[in-house]
Amino acid sequence: MATKRDYYEVLDVAKTASAEEIKKAYRKVAIKFHPDKNPDDPTAEDKFKEAAEAYEILSDEQKRARYDRFGHQAGGGGGGQNMEDIFSQFGDIFGGGGFEGFFGGGQGRGGRRVKKGSNLRIKLKLDLEEVANGVEKKIKVKRYVACQPCSGTGAKNGTDLKDCGTCHGQGQVKRVVNTMLGQMVSSSTCPTCNGEGKIVSSKCDVCHGEGRQLHEEVIPINIPAGVAEGMQLSMNGKGNYPERGGVPGDLLIQIEEEPHELLKRDGNNIMFEQYISFVDAALGASIEVPTIEGKVKIKVDPGTQPGKILRLRGKGIKDLNGYGRGDQLIHLSVWTPKNVSSEERELLEKLRNAQNFTPNPGKNEKGFFEKVKEYFQ
Ligand SMILES: [Zn+2]
Ligand SMILES: [Zn+2]
Repeated sequence: MATKRDYYEVLDVAKTASAEEIKKAYRKVAIKFHPDKNPDDPTAEDKFKEAAEAYEILSDEQKRARYDRFGHQAGGGGGGQNMEDIFSQFGDIFGGGGFEGFFGGGQGRGGRRVKKGSNLRIKLKLDLEEVANGVEKKIKVKRYVACQPCSGTGAKNGTDLKDCGTCHGQGQVKRVVNTMLGQMVSSSTCPTCNGEGKIVSSKCDVCHGEGRQLHEEVIPINIPAGVAEGMQLSMNGKGNYPERGGVPGDLLIQIEEEPHELLKRDGNNIMFEQYISFVDAALGASIEVPTIEGKVKIKVDPGTQPGKILRLRGKGIKDLNGYGRGDQLIHLSVWTPKNVSSEERELLEKLRNAQNFTPNPGKNEKGFFEKVKEYFQ
């Protein structure tokens, strides 16, 4: 994938810009690079699309928050927009009559808006290992696809349809209005054909005029390592095909993390609490701990105090943006027996007053506050 420019940079706004400022900035960039205004500049269309993508993310509170946290890896749209999608957004931004009004042109783009089908939403459960390393999942979805016999038109043989008489196939009716700024062209959806531009004279037998059919499909999805609960990935064009022609919506995949029995996730790190006996703490030991890659042997030094944190470097979760890999942190707790037999009691009583069993923290012993500080470093 080519490297993308920062969305804030594209719209030339501060990271703290308000929704209103973002809208204004987008309007400015969109007008500047509008392809109709730059017929001789082949890069204008790319810049125009880049701005539309940046606006799509930054104008949506949730997508913006995700982008702020995860950057371009956050997914959730962008990239797959075609020009028709971009123009269909303009209604909200430029108010009412669509984009043409600005250029006073009727001939430019205008025309029928391309319908986009509805998005499909699914939830995807991942275990900790899949989150840590990334995974390819095959997902069965039921979605609407274009009806083949009629090529998605809904008309018999795909040919039994004609242009709408009201809008002459444009899907929109235009009206010239006089305003303080001069004449503006306002367009609205044609009421006869509901914006489709075509009238079906006899319906396709297979889809009964709907132009689409439900179809079960297995879709492979590559989940990158490091995704988190609630994150949304999107696959452009894998949603539902709309009725009687257009482009399919998107497949939106919401991530759910299945909790691990023993290991807990904290960002890209894995946390694990290991209990050791006070004999092992005093004399040292070699113990086995679980990691996402299986069991690993670690050494407990003689004289280990409870609360010590050991670090297994690189045994955590791969970073979503490719910045390495987290660690596994092992918190050592010392297990104090709750019930003791009479023999054990005898042994322990002998130790109670033994010289080295009296607490005597030296100057080098790390206290609670140092440990917390060290942990958060
Ligand atoms: Zn019409
Ligand atoms: Zn059909």
